[in-house]
Amino acid sequence: MNTFLSSEQQALQAQYRAFVKEHIAPHAKALDSGSYNTRDIIADLGQQGYLGICIPKEYGGQALPFLNFILLVEAIGEVDPGIALAIAGHAQVVELLSKFGTDKQKSRYLPLLARGECLATLAVTEETAGSDFSAVKSTVQGTKDKLTLTGQKTWVVNGPFANLALVMARYTESAEDQGRLSFWLVDMDNRTELNVGSKQGKLGLRSAITSPVAFNGLSVNPEALLSEKRFDNDEQALDAIRHAQSVSKVIMAASAVGLLEHAVDESVQRARTREQFGSTIGRLQAIQWKLADMSVDSSAARLMTYRAAWSKDEKPEQFSKYAAMCKLFAARGARLHSSEAVQIFGVLGLSDDEPVEKLYRDAKALEIVEGTSEIQKNIIAGLAKA
Ligand SMILES: Cc1cc2nc3c(=O)[nH]c(=O)nc-3n(C[C@H](O)[C@H](O)[C@H](O)COP(=O)(O)OP(=O)(O)OC[C@H]3O[C@@H](n4cnc5c(N)ncnc54)[C@H](O)[C@@H]3O)c2cc1C
Repeated sequence: MNTFLSSEQQALQAQYRAFVKEHIAPHAKALDSGSYNTRDIIADLGQQGYLGICIPKEYGGQALPFLNFILLVEAIGEVDPGIALAIAGHAQVVELLSKFGTDKQKSRYLPLLARGECLATLAVTEETAGSDFSAVKSTVQGTKDKLTLTGQKTWVVNGPFANLALVMARYTESAEDQGRLSFWLVDMDNRTELNVGSKQGKLGLRSAITSPVAFNGLSVNPEALLSEKRFDNDEQALDAIRHAQSVSKVIMAASAVGLLEHAVDESVQRARTREQFGSTIGRLQAIQWKLADMSVDSSAARLMTYRAAWSKDEKPEQFSKYAAMCKLFAARGARLHSSEAVQIFGVLGLSDDEPVEKLYRDAKALEIVEGTSEIQKNIIAGLAKA
Protein backbone atom coordinates (compact mmCIF):
# COMPACT_ATOMS: atom_id res chain seq x y z
CA MET A 1 0.00 0.00 0.00
CA ASN A 2 2.80 2.38 0.83
CA THR A 3 3.80 2.50 -2.85
CA PHE A 4 0.93 5.02 -3.28
CA LEU A 5 2.51 7.35 -0.75
CA SER A 6 5.59 9.50 -1.31
CA SER A 7 8.61 8.78 0.89
CA GLU A 8 7.84 12.00 2.79
CA GLN A 9 4.28 10.80 3.42
CA GLN A 10 5.53 7.41 4.58
CA ALA A 11 7.87 9.11 7.06
CA LEU A 12 5.06 11.35 8.32
CA GLN A 13 2.72 8.35 8.59
CA ALA A 14 5.26 6.68 10.89
CA GLN A 15 5.39 9.90 12.95
CA TYR A 16 1.59 10.10 13.19
CA ARG A 17 1.38 6.47 14.30
CA ALA A 18 4.06 6.98 16.94
CA PHE A 19 2.24 10.05 18.27
CA VAL A 20 -1.11 8.23 18.44
CA LYS A 21 0.48 5.23 20.14
CA GLU A 22 2.04 7.41 22.80
CA HIS A 23 -0.62 10.08 23.34
CA ILE A 24 -4.01 8.54 22.52
CA ALA A 25 -3.82 4.73 22.72
CA PRO A 26 -3.10 4.60 26.48
CA HIS A 27 -6.32 6.60 27.10
CA ALA A 28 -8.67 4.86 24.63
CA LYS A 29 -10.61 2.98 27.29
CA ALA A 30 -10.86 5.99 29.59
CA LEU A 31 -11.96 8.19 26.69
CA ASP A 32 -14.74 5.70 25.93
CA SER A 33 -15.93 5.62 29.53
CA GLY A 34 -15.74 9.40 29.88
CA SER A 35 -13.02 9.41 32.52
CA TYR A 36 -10.45 11.08 30.26
CA ASN A 37 -11.03 14.49 28.72
CA THR A 38 -11.31 14.57 24.91
CA ARG A 39 -10.35 18.27 24.94
CA ASP A 40 -6.89 17.35 26.32
CA ILE A 41 -6.25 14.99 23.40
CA ILE A 42 -7.27 17.65 20.92
CA ALA A 43 -4.98 20.16 22.65
CA ASP A 44 -2.08 17.69 22.24
CA LEU A 45 -2.90 17.26 18.54
CA GLY A 46 -2.99 21.05 18.15
CA GLN A 47 0.32 21.58 19.95
CA GLN A 48 1.91 19.09 17.62
CA GLY A 49 0.67 21.17 14.63
CA TYR A 50 -1.57 18.32 13.47
CA LEU A 51 -4.77 20.37 13.34
CA GLY A 52 -3.06 22.67 10.84
CA ILE A 53 -1.80 20.01 8.42
CA CYS A 54 -3.88 21.42 5.53
CA ILE A 55 -3.99 25.07 6.63
CA PRO A 56 -1.90 27.44 4.45
CA LYS A 57 1.50 28.44 5.87
CA GLU A 58 0.53 32.14 5.95
CA TYR A 59 -2.05 31.19 8.59
CA GLY A 60 0.32 29.06 10.63
CA GLY A 61 -0.41 25.70 9.03
CA GLN A 62 1.73 23.14 7.23
CA ALA A 63 0.06 23.43 3.79
CA LEU A 64 0.30 19.67 3.23
CA PRO A 65 -2.09 17.59 1.08
CA PHE A 66 -5.42 16.41 2.55
CA LEU A 67 -4.11 12.85 2.18
CA ASN A 68 -1.55 13.60 4.91
CA PHE A 69 -4.34 14.57 7.30
CA ILE A 70 -6.14 11.36 6.36
CA LEU A 71 -3.05 9.31 7.24
CA LEU A 72 -3.16 10.90 10.69
CA VAL A 73 -6.88 10.15 11.04
CA GLU A 74 -6.40 6.53 9.98
CA ALA A 75 -3.86 6.12 12.78
CA ILE A 76 -6.30 7.74 15.24
CA GLY A 77 -9.17 5.53 14.01
CA GLU A 78 -7.16 2.46 14.86
CA VAL A 79 -7.30 3.38 18.54
CA ASP A 80 -10.36 5.64 18.88
CA PRO A 81 -12.60 6.75 15.98
CA GLY A 82 -14.47 9.06 18.38
CA ILE A 83 -11.44 11.38 18.43
CA ALA A 84 -11.54 11.36 14.61
CA LEU A 85 -15.14 12.60 14.79
CA ALA A 86 -14.19 15.35 17.25
CA ILE A 87 -11.55 16.63 14.84
CA ALA A 88 -13.91 16.20 11.85
CA GLY A 89 -16.16 18.90 13.37
CA HIS A 90 -13.12 21.18 13.75
CA ALA A 91 -11.86 20.36 10.24
CA GLN A 92 -15.20 21.25 8.63
CA VAL A 93 -15.06 24.73 10.13
CA VAL A 94 -11.45 25.10 8.95
CA GLU A 95 -12.55 24.08 5.45
CA LEU A 96 -15.50 26.48 5.27
CA LEU A 97 -13.47 29.35 6.70
CA SER A 98 -10.58 28.71 4.28
CA LYS A 99 -12.94 28.55 1.30
CA PHE A 100 -15.44 31.27 2.13
CA GLY A 101 -14.05 33.35 5.01
CA THR A 102 -13.05 36.99 4.62
CA ASP A 103 -9.34 37.82 4.97
CA LYS A 104 -10.10 39.24 8.40
CA GLN A 105 -11.92 36.09 9.53
CA LYS A 106 -9.13 33.86 8.23
CA SER A 107 -6.37 35.91 9.89
CA ARG A 108 -8.27 35.95 13.16
CA TYR A 109 -9.23 32.29 13.42
CA LEU A 110 -7.08 30.02 11.23
CA PRO A 111 -3.82 30.38 13.23
CA LEU A 112 -5.68 29.61 16.47
CA LEU A 113 -7.50 26.66 14.85
CA ALA A 114 -4.20 25.32 13.45
CA ARG A 115 -2.69 25.28 16.94
CA GLY A 116 -5.84 23.90 18.59
CA GLU A 117 -5.97 26.94 20.88
CA CYS A 118 -9.43 27.48 19.49
CA LEU A 119 -11.54 24.34 19.09
CA ALA A 120 -14.36 24.60 16.57
CA THR A 121 -17.61 22.85 15.83
CA LEU A 122 -20.14 23.00 13.02
CA ALA A 123 -23.72 23.32 14.30
CA VAL A 124 -26.27 22.39 11.65
CA THR A 125 -28.51 19.58 12.95
CA GLU A 126 -31.81 20.43 14.66
CA GLU A 127 -34.62 18.21 15.90
CA THR A 128 -36.41 18.60 12.56
CA ALA A 129 -33.34 19.02 10.33
CA GLY A 130 -31.19 15.88 10.17
CA SER A 131 -30.20 14.60 6.73
CA ASP A 132 -32.20 17.47 5.25
CA PHE A 133 -30.06 20.55 5.99
CA SER A 134 -32.51 22.80 4.15
CA ALA A 135 -35.03 22.30 6.98
CA VAL A 136 -32.90 24.38 9.40
CA LYS A 137 -35.17 26.73 11.39
CA SER A 138 -32.64 28.69 13.47
CA THR A 139 -32.69 32.35 12.50
CA VAL A 140 -30.52 35.42 12.57
CA GLN A 141 -32.84 38.40 12.53
CA GLY A 142 -32.62 42.15 12.62
CA THR A 143 -30.70 44.97 11.06
CA LYS A 144 -26.94 45.50 11.04
CA ASP A 145 -27.20 47.46 14.33
CA LYS A 146 -28.80 44.58 16.19
CA LEU A 147 -28.68 41.03 14.94
CA THR A 148 -29.80 38.12 17.09
CA LEU A 149 -29.41 34.37 16.69
CA THR A 150 -32.22 32.14 17.95
CA GLY A 151 -32.45 28.39 17.54
CA GLN A 152 -31.87 24.95 18.98
CA LYS A 153 -29.05 22.84 17.62
CA THR A 154 -28.49 19.26 18.66
CA TRP A 155 -25.78 16.58 18.47
CA VAL A 156 -23.16 19.33 18.34
CA VAL A 157 -19.80 17.62 18.58
CA ASN A 158 -17.36 19.32 21.00
CA GLY A 159 -20.42 21.33 22.17
CA PRO A 160 -19.49 21.41 25.87
CA PHE A 161 -15.97 22.77 25.30
CA ALA A 162 -15.80 24.27 21.79
CA ASN A 163 -14.55 27.86 21.63
CA LEU A 164 -16.05 28.61 18.23
CA ALA A 165 -19.21 27.37 16.49
CA LEU A 166 -20.06 27.86 12.86
CA VAL A 167 -23.84 27.93 13.03
CA MET A 168 -26.15 27.41 10.06
CA ALA A 169 -29.21 29.66 10.29
CA ARG A 170 -31.72 31.55 8.14
CA TYR A 171 -30.79 35.22 7.86
CA THR A 172 -33.85 37.47 7.62
CA GLU A 173 -33.49 41.20 7.32
CA SER A 174 -37.19 42.06 7.45
CA ALA A 175 -40.49 40.46 8.41
CA GLU A 176 -41.32 39.96 4.71
CA ASP A 177 -37.98 38.28 4.03
CA GLN A 178 -38.20 34.44 3.93
CA GLY A 179 -34.56 34.32 4.92
CA ARG A 180 -31.60 32.66 3.30
CA LEU A 181 -29.37 29.94 4.66
CA SER A 182 -26.16 31.40 6.01
CA PHE A 183 -23.29 30.59 8.39
CA TRP A 184 -22.31 32.55 11.49
CA LEU A 185 -19.12 32.43 13.51
CA VAL A 186 -20.23 32.31 17.13
CA ASP A 187 -17.93 32.78 20.10
CA MET A 188 -18.79 29.91 22.43
CA ASP A 189 -16.61 31.17 25.29
CA ASN A 190 -19.17 33.82 26.13
CA ARG A 191 -22.00 31.64 27.33
CA THR A 192 -24.46 34.21 28.63
CA GLU A 193 -26.93 34.09 25.73
CA LEU A 194 -26.47 30.45 24.89
CA ASN A 195 -27.28 27.30 26.71
CA VAL A 196 -25.15 24.19 26.28
CA GLY A 197 -27.09 21.09 27.32
CA SER A 198 -25.75 17.95 28.96
CA LYS A 199 -23.48 15.52 27.18
CA GLN A 200 -25.58 13.05 25.13
CA GLY A 201 -25.10 9.35 25.94
CA LYS A 202 -24.67 7.09 22.93
CA LEU A 203 -23.86 3.58 21.67
CA GLY A 204 -20.45 4.32 20.17
CA LEU A 205 -17.94 7.06 19.31
CA ARG A 206 -18.34 8.08 22.92
CA SER A 207 -15.19 10.18 23.09
CA ALA A 208 -16.80 12.52 20.54
CA ILE A 209 -18.70 14.50 23.13
CA THR A 210 -21.97 15.91 21.78
CA SER A 211 -24.61 18.14 23.32
CA PRO A 212 -27.58 20.28 22.36
CA VAL A 213 -26.85 23.99 22.12
CA ALA A 214 -29.62 26.60 22.35
CA PHE A 215 -29.15 30.18 21.20
CA ASN A 216 -31.59 32.44 22.98
CA GLY A 217 -31.48 35.70 21.08
CA LEU A 218 -27.68 35.76 21.11
CA SER A 219 -26.29 39.07 19.78
CA VAL A 220 -24.17 38.55 16.72
CA ASN A 221 -21.85 40.94 14.95
CA PRO A 222 -22.48 41.48 11.20
CA GLU A 223 -18.79 40.60 10.74
CA ALA A 224 -19.54 37.11 12.05
CA LEU A 225 -21.34 36.26 8.81
CA LEU A 226 -19.20 33.83 6.82
CA SER A 227 -18.19 35.24 3.46
CA GLU A 228 -18.15 38.92 2.54
CA LYS A 229 -21.33 38.51 0.58
CA ARG A 230 -23.92 36.20 2.08
CA PHE A 231 -24.74 33.19 -0.08
CA ASP A 232 -27.06 34.40 -2.85
CA ASN A 233 -29.52 31.57 -2.52
CA ASP A 234 -30.12 28.46 -0.42
CA GLU A 235 -28.59 26.17 -3.01
CA GLN A 236 -25.20 27.91 -2.69
CA ALA A 237 -25.26 27.52 1.09
CA LEU A 238 -26.31 23.88 0.74
CA ASP A 239 -23.44 23.29 -1.71
CA ALA A 240 -21.07 24.74 0.88
CA ILE A 241 -22.31 22.46 3.64
CA ARG A 242 -22.25 19.45 1.35
CA HIS A 243 -18.64 20.24 0.49
CA ALA A 244 -17.74 20.48 4.19
CA GLN A 245 -19.50 17.16 4.74
CA SER A 246 -17.48 15.55 1.94
CA VAL A 247 -14.38 16.50 3.92
CA SER A 248 -15.76 14.97 7.11
CA LYS A 249 -16.94 11.86 5.25
CA VAL A 250 -13.40 11.10 4.12
CA ILE A 251 -12.24 11.70 7.69
CA MET A 252 -14.83 9.24 9.00
CA ALA A 253 -13.95 6.73 6.25
CA ALA A 254 -10.29 6.95 7.29
CA SER A 255 -11.24 6.29 10.88
CA ALA A 256 -13.27 3.27 9.70
CA VAL A 257 -10.17 2.02 7.85
CA GLY A 258 -8.19 2.31 11.08
CA LEU A 259 -10.97 0.49 12.94
CA LEU A 260 -10.94 -2.31 10.33
CA GLU A 261 -7.18 -2.67 10.69
CA HIS A 262 -7.62 -3.00 14.43
CA ALA A 263 -10.37 -5.61 13.93
CA VAL A 264 -8.10 -7.65 11.65
CA ASP A 265 -5.20 -7.52 14.15
CA GLU A 266 -7.35 -8.55 17.11
CA SER A 267 -9.09 -11.32 15.16
CA VAL A 268 -5.88 -12.81 13.76
CA GLN A 269 -4.30 -12.79 17.20
CA ARG A 270 -7.32 -14.53 18.74
CA ALA A 271 -7.56 -17.06 15.89
CA ARG A 272 -3.91 -17.97 16.44
CA THR A 273 -4.21 -18.51 20.18
CA ARG A 274 -7.73 -19.79 20.98
CA GLU A 275 -7.86 -23.58 21.04
CA GLN A 276 -11.05 -25.63 20.73
CA PHE A 277 -11.53 -29.28 19.69
CA GLY A 278 -7.78 -29.86 19.91
CA SER A 279 -6.50 -27.08 17.63
CA THR A 280 -6.50 -23.31 17.23
CA ILE A 281 -9.67 -21.90 15.75
CA GLY A 282 -7.49 -20.22 13.11
CA ARG A 283 -7.06 -23.64 11.51
CA LEU A 284 -10.78 -23.75 10.72
CA GLN A 285 -11.81 -22.65 7.25
CA ALA A 286 -14.87 -20.94 8.73
CA ILE A 287 -12.57 -18.58 10.64
CA GLN A 288 -9.98 -18.18 7.87
CA TRP A 289 -12.66 -17.03 5.43
CA LYS A 290 -13.84 -14.39 7.87
CA LEU A 291 -10.26 -13.13 8.18
CA ALA A 292 -9.80 -13.14 4.40
CA ASP A 293 -12.99 -11.10 3.83
CA MET A 294 -11.94 -8.67 6.55
CA SER A 295 -8.51 -8.12 4.99
CA VAL A 296 -9.94 -7.62 1.50
CA ASP A 297 -12.50 -5.05 2.62
CA SER A 298 -9.97 -3.30 4.81
CA SER A 299 -7.56 -2.90 1.86
CA ALA A 300 -10.33 -1.83 -0.53
CA ALA A 301 -11.66 0.72 1.96
CA ARG A 302 -8.16 2.15 2.39
CA LEU A 303 -7.67 2.51 -1.38
CA MET A 304 -11.03 4.21 -1.82
CA THR A 305 -10.36 6.56 1.08
CA TYR A 306 -6.89 7.54 -0.17
CA ARG A 307 -8.37 8.12 -3.63
CA ALA A 308 -11.04 10.40 -2.21
CA ALA A 309 -8.46 12.31 -0.15
CA TRP A 310 -6.18 12.68 -3.19
CA SER A 311 -9.09 13.89 -5.33
CA LYS A 312 -9.81 16.79 -2.97
CA ASP A 313 -6.54 18.42 -4.07
CA GLU A 314 -6.00 16.86 -7.48
CA LYS A 315 -9.41 16.07 -9.00
CA PRO A 316 -11.93 18.25 -7.16
CA GLU A 317 -14.73 17.56 -9.66
CA GLN A 318 -14.81 13.94 -8.47
CA PHE A 319 -14.31 14.67 -4.77
CA SER A 320 -17.93 14.54 -3.57
CA LYS A 321 -18.63 11.23 -5.35
CA TYR A 322 -15.43 9.60 -4.14
CA ALA A 323 -16.08 10.88 -0.62
CA ALA A 324 -19.59 9.38 -0.57
CA MET A 325 -18.27 6.08 -1.95
CA CYS A 326 -15.51 5.66 0.60
CA LYS A 327 -17.75 6.67 3.52
CA LEU A 328 -20.43 4.16 2.49
CA PHE A 329 -17.97 1.33 1.85
CA ALA A 330 -15.66 1.85 4.81
CA ALA A 331 -18.44 2.34 7.38
CA ARG A 332 -20.37 -0.69 6.10
CA GLY A 333 -17.18 -2.78 6.12
CA ALA A 334 -16.40 -1.63 9.65
CA ARG A 335 -19.87 -2.63 10.85
CA LEU A 336 -19.83 -6.03 9.11
CA HIS A 337 -16.32 -7.02 10.12
CA SER A 338 -16.36 -5.71 13.66
CA SER A 339 -19.40 -7.97 14.06
CA GLU A 340 -17.32 -10.87 12.69
CA ALA A 341 -14.51 -9.97 15.08
CA VAL A 342 -16.97 -10.27 17.97
CA GLN A 343 -18.04 -13.65 16.54
CA ILE A 344 -14.42 -14.89 16.39
CA PHE A 345 -13.92 -13.89 20.02
CA GLY A 346 -17.04 -15.82 21.06
CA VAL A 347 -18.33 -14.86 24.46
CA LEU A 348 -15.24 -12.76 25.12
CA GLY A 349 -16.29 -10.58 22.20
CA LEU A 350 -19.24 -9.45 24.30
CA SER A 351 -17.05 -8.47 27.22
CA ASP A 352 -16.22 -4.82 27.69
CA ASP A 353 -12.74 -5.96 28.76
CA GLU A 354 -12.01 -6.77 25.11
CA PRO A 355 -11.39 -4.09 22.45
CA VAL A 356 -13.66 -5.79 19.87
CA GLU A 357 -16.77 -4.87 21.87
CA LYS A 358 -15.92 -1.17 21.44
CA LEU A 359 -15.02 -1.67 17.77
CA TYR A 360 -18.53 -3.03 17.18
CA ARG A 361 -20.24 -0.12 18.95
CA ASP A 362 -18.12 2.51 17.20
CA ALA A 363 -18.58 0.89 13.79
CA LYS A 364 -22.38 1.08 13.91
CA ALA A 365 -22.24 4.78 14.72
CA LEU A 366 -19.96 5.34 11.70
CA GLU A 367 -22.86 4.42 9.40
CA ILE A 368 -24.87 7.39 10.73
CA VAL A 369 -22.54 10.27 11.54
CA GLU A 370 -21.54 12.80 8.88
CA GLY A 371 -24.24 11.54 6.52
CA THR A 372 -26.03 8.21 6.71
CA SER A 373 -25.31 5.32 4.34
CA GLU A 374 -28.64 5.87 2.57
CA ILE A 375 -27.74 9.49 1.84
CA GLN A 376 -24.36 8.36 0.43
CA LYS A 377 -26.21 6.02 -1.94
CA ASN A 378 -28.44 8.91 -3.04
CA ILE A 379 -25.35 10.99 -3.80
CA ILE A 380 -23.62 8.20 -5.72
CA ALA A 381 -26.80 7.44 -7.67
CA GLY A 382 -27.16 11.12 -8.48
CA LEU A 383 -30.46 11.37 -6.58
CA ALA A 384 -29.09 14.14 -4.39
CA LYS A 385 -26.53 16.84 -5.00
CA ALA A 386 -23.28 16.04 -3.23
C1 LIG B 1 -21.88 11.31 17.41
C2 LIG B 1 -22.58 12.30 16.53
C3 LIG B 1 -21.99 13.53 16.28
C4 LIG B 1 -22.66 14.47 15.52
N1 LIG B 1 -22.10 15.70 15.35
C5 LIG B 1 -22.77 16.67 14.70
C6 LIG B 1 -22.26 18.01 14.64
O1 LIG B 1 -21.19 18.32 15.15
N2 LIG B 1 -23.00 18.95 14.00
C7 LIG B 1 -24.19 18.68 13.43
O2 LIG B 1 -24.79 19.58 12.86
N3 LIG B 1 -24.72 17.41 13.47
C8 LIG B 1 -24.04 16.42 14.09
N4 LIG B 1 -24.56 15.13 14.17
C9 LIG B 1 -25.84 14.84 13.55
C10 LIG B 1 -25.71 14.03 12.27
O3 LIG B 1 -25.13 14.82 11.27
C11 LIG B 1 -27.10 13.51 11.90
O4 LIG B 1 -27.39 12.51 12.84
C12 LIG B 1 -27.16 12.96 10.51
O5 LIG B 1 -27.07 14.02 9.57
C13 LIG B 1 -28.43 12.18 10.22
O6 LIG B 1 -29.57 12.88 10.63
P1 LIG B 1 -30.65 12.16 11.58
O7 LIG B 1 -29.91 11.37 12.58
O8 LIG B 1 -31.60 13.18 12.06
O9 LIG B 1 -31.37 11.11 10.64
P2 LIG B 1 -32.65 11.35 9.70
O10 LIG B 1 -32.33 12.36 8.68
O11 LIG B 1 -33.86 11.53 10.53
O12 LIG B 1 -32.72 9.93 8.98
C14 LIG B 1 -33.37 8.79 9.57
C15 LIG B 1 -33.24 7.64 8.60
O13 LIG B 1 -33.90 7.96 7.36
C16 LIG B 1 -33.00 7.85 6.29
N5 LIG B 1 -33.24 8.91 5.31
C17 LIG B 1 -33.46 10.24 5.53
N6 LIG B 1 -33.61 10.89 4.37
C18 LIG B 1 -33.46 9.96 3.39
C19 LIG B 1 -33.51 10.02 1.94
N7 LIG B 1 -33.72 11.16 1.30
N8 LIG B 1 -33.31 8.87 1.26
C20 LIG B 1 -33.08 7.69 1.93
N9 LIG B 1 -33.04 7.58 3.27
C21 LIG B 1 -33.22 8.70 3.98
C22 LIG B 1 -31.61 8.02 6.92
O14 LIG B 1 -30.61 7.44 6.13
C23 LIG B 1 -31.80 7.30 8.24
O15 LIG B 1 -31.65 5.93 8.06
C24 LIG B 1 -23.92 14.16 14.94
C25 LIG B 1 -24.48 12.90 15.15
C26 LIG B 1 -23.83 11.98 15.95
C27 LIG B 1 -24.48 10.65 16.22
